[in-house]
Amino acid sequence: MRAMRCVFPALAATALTAVLGLAGCSTNPITGRSQLIGLVSEGEAIQGSAKAYQQMMADLDKKQKLEKSGEKDSPRAQQIQQITDRLIAQAIKFRPNSASWRWEVRVINDPKTVNAFCMAGGKMAIYTGMWEQLKATDDELAQVMGHEISHALLDHTRERMSVARASDVGVQILAAAAGVGNVGGQLMQNAALVAIGLPNSRESEAEADAVGIQLAAHAGYDPHAAVTLWEKMGKLADGGRTEFLSTHPSPENRAAKLKELGAKLEPAYLATKTNPPVAQRYVNLPVVRTGGSNERVVEPPLGANERVVKPAPTSSN
Ligand SMILES: [Zn+2]
Repeated sequence: MRAMRCVFPALAATALTAVLGLAGCSTNPITGRSQLIGLVSEGEAIQGSAKAYQQMMADLDKKQKLEKSGEKDSPRAQQIQQITDRLIAQAIKFRPNSASWRWEVRVINDPKTVNAFCMAGGKMAIYTGMWEQLKATDDELAQVMGHEISHALLDHTRERMSVARASDVGVQILAAAAGVGNVGGQLMQNAALVAIGLPNSRESEAEADAVGIQLAAHAGYDPHAAVTLWEKMGKLADGGRTEFLSTHPSPENRAAKLKELGAKLEPAYLATKTNPPVAQRYVNLPVVRTGGSNERVVEPPLGANERVVKPAPTSSN
């Protein structure tokens, strides 16, 4: 049994925010762990993340730091789309309501940065340092993205947004007292940006490791790559910048636990590899305007007359 307690990070450890923080604890139905997520609703987390992501990607695009998407997809953008599509198919089995997320993935052209993230609601990015510095293989990239997706599925991203919001509570109260209304949307965007830079707890890391390797194995990616990925990260950390390790601290016995999990998942991996599932597109789906009201997307960038178009499966082997 896990201890039912809510660990409140030092970042927000003022008396006011600690009280509010404890009030915001909820038990995660998947892991049974008590998390500080109550300060940010699921809708707020998804909407705030979507806006923050949109702004971040627009800024990067202006600086020509985004590998092109759409018709001009770079080979790396195509590679990561294919990998994340296969992972998302498994993610939806793990957490069915994530089927309604508007999943996106972009490649950020920054060869010195070794990092990746998945915000609440499935907004993902990976930096080209993963290729340039880490020389990550397809299997290892799948482990990175599987791990990141798991943080979102397990509400770890929302948990960190709650922490970010808790640290902003005093500001909100002052703003309300001063009669400044409707600042919540911007606060949520800020919380989403702060959250992707906050370190996860080692407990969250162990959870994301376990779910991530499972998603990847069932998607047909070698579980052994989880071990080699973290080995490579460790070696790189000795020589320079590793943003990824600073936000994903190593839980106890990471390598041993991943080896053990990997051995158990080997049959599932081999079965999928031998008989690959039908490929389906989930990421970066085009949005079109329609006259109907049956849209499945809940995010604000889409108007009432817009919906995401989901293409039919692309192969049937
Ligand atoms: Zn992590």
